[in-house]
Amino acid sequence: MSILVVGSVALDTVETRAGSVKDVLGGSATYFAWAASFFAPVQVVAPVGEDFPGEHVETLKQRGIDVSHLQRHPGGTFRWHGRYGDDPDERETVAVCADAFSDFHPRLSESGRKCRYLFLANVDPALQREVLEQADSPELVAMDTMDLWIKTQREAVVGALGTVDILLVNDCEALDLSGKDNLVLAAAWLRERGPGAVIIKKGQHGALAQIGSSFFCIPGYPLAEVVDPTGAGDAFGGGLMGCMAESGKKDEEVMRKAVVYGSVLGSFAVETFSLERLMGLTREDVDRRYEEFVELVRF
Ligand code: AMP
Repeated sequence: MSILVVGSVALDTVETRAGSVKDVLGGSATYFAWAASFFAPVQVVAPVGEDFPGEHVETLKQRGIDVSHLQRHPGGTFRWHGRYGDDPDERETVAVCADAFSDFHPRLSESGRKCRYLFLANVDPALQREVLEQADSPELVAMDTMDLWIKTQREAVVGALGTVDILLVNDCEALDLSGKDNLVLAAAWLRERGPGAVIIKKGQHGALAQIGSSFFCIPGYPLAEVVDPTGAGDAFGGGLMGCMAESGKKDEEVMRKAVVYGSVLGSFAVETFSLERLMGLTREDVDRRYEEFVELVRF
């Protein structure tokens, strides 16, 4: 079943302990789409500028990702510059150039409107709403957000909770948005506002999910080196939605499996800069790490 994602397709400049890269392929929709494409067909809705390299579009196309909703516009591509400290869960946004989004209004085609699975990746809540309103009763809608929108458009983010089935946020965002100082209380507060499932990503420490009234926890995959944490959350979203779309079910058992696949894709994403590691993977590699996860938590 097909998945549609609205988010950013970006050129990232990233500095980590392992080194730095400039203007490499990134963006919330890009990481999401690649991770989800291991499981189901994906359509990407995002703006790109005149300067966005054609070779990146070709790479996505060759992967089978539907880029017909990639809207080119005069001006530059969305650019993000991030810097990580010694703790890979702490990052600073050094600069953002968001011109690409200034007059971007997504227009879904017939096939876009018919998508059964919709992922509202990290992007302005107004754009998330524009896409949701055009979708023709999707079976499952999930959303992500970030500290920027929680600070600048809190009401819109809280309002959006009532329109989605799954909320995917990181631990700081869950606490910020709910005003609580405890993740269990935060998850309960967020669930009360709409989503049946709240999945809280905890970076290298794994994830905590509240699915209906049940809690589900998994650790982070033990990695000796994190090269670049960028995109881990979006790749997590891709693995999660991909697994849900592939199964076609929404029960708790599938959701638990989907959280593990999310963690698998997130853990691969951080092993290199940009999407290099994700691009070199096969479905067998993904399934092998999934099995390692199962073994990791067996007792
Ligand atoms: P993550 O590490 O999962 O939070 O995702 C990082 C990705 O999100 C990077 O590739 C950035 O290009 C992208 N990104 C950062 N800030 C924004 C923003 N304000 N809007 C949309 N995408 C963003």
